[in-house]
Amino acid sequence: MKRRRVIYEGKAKILYEGTEPGTVIQYFKDDATAGNGAKKDTIEGKGVLNNRISEYLMTQLAGIGVPTHFVRRLNMREQLIKEVEIIPLEVVVRNVAAGSMSKRLGIEEGTALPRSIIEYYYKNDSLNDPWVSEEHITAFGWASPQDLDDMVNLTIRVNDFLSGLFLGAGIKLVDFKLEFGRLWENDYMRIVLADEISPDNCRLWDVNSNEKLDKDRFRRDMGGVVEAYSEVAKRLGIMPESVQGENKGPVLVK
Ligand code: UDP
Repeated sequence: MKRRRVIYEGKAKILYEGTEPGTVIQYFKDDATAGNGAKKDTIEGKGVLNNRISEYLMTQLAGIGVPTHFVRRLNMREQLIKEVEIIPLEVVVRNVAAGSMSKRLGIEEGTALPRSIIEYYYKNDSLNDPWVSEEHITAFGWASPQDLDDMVNLTIRVNDFLSGLFLGAGIKLVDFKLEFGRLWENDYMRIVLADEISPDNCRLWDVNSNEKLDKDRFRRDMGGVVEAYSEVAKRLGIMPESVQGENKGPVLVK
């Protein structure tokens, strides 16, 4: 069998050459890292859940007119996406104080913010993804003022829509990270949502108990990571039939 060409291997995903020109296959691994790779583990079933959750959220977003890189899910761990030129920024939206914002600014975790706040981080592992401003982004040419404008508009729409969608599932969307890419179609370029949206890059808390249903369970050694991600999938009504049971041989059907 012909081996597929790996385009890029990241911490939680592998990108393979796509099946059609202008496409890429995004493979979701079970690997989890935190602290820029300082903490590593494998969480069985995580990749399957993130593939499904991200497919669902990207599809829902496309339904309200948000352009995304998503084409279709191929199997339990892979999805076909459009090839884009990734903008080297992590766009973080916060609705409730948590994580690095709480630490940096001394705001108690769980404090509702007076309005949603957007932050930018420069994607660069060797620099630990530093916090940057719009001034840095446009001065260094990571994105043009027009790109940035498009990203902010999309980010606000994504936040409004996903906050409502999760609330309907009894989940508070505390904060999340988005990545964008430039999609070239002939001579035209547009900014589209890229990467993934899953409990790996969102903070999701149960509305009533504030129980964490996201990657903080891994970052903070709380355990129950796969159970939490499964709970998110269940509440969204998209639990994959088999999470831990892929390729594990026959299953007794009663
Ligand atoms: N986030 C992410 N990738 C990163 C850093 C942050 O997906 O490299 C997400 C994270 O899951 C959270 C939000 O962005 O939902 C804000 O993260 P924060 O700045 O609080 O950093 P952390 O405390 O996770 O280091």
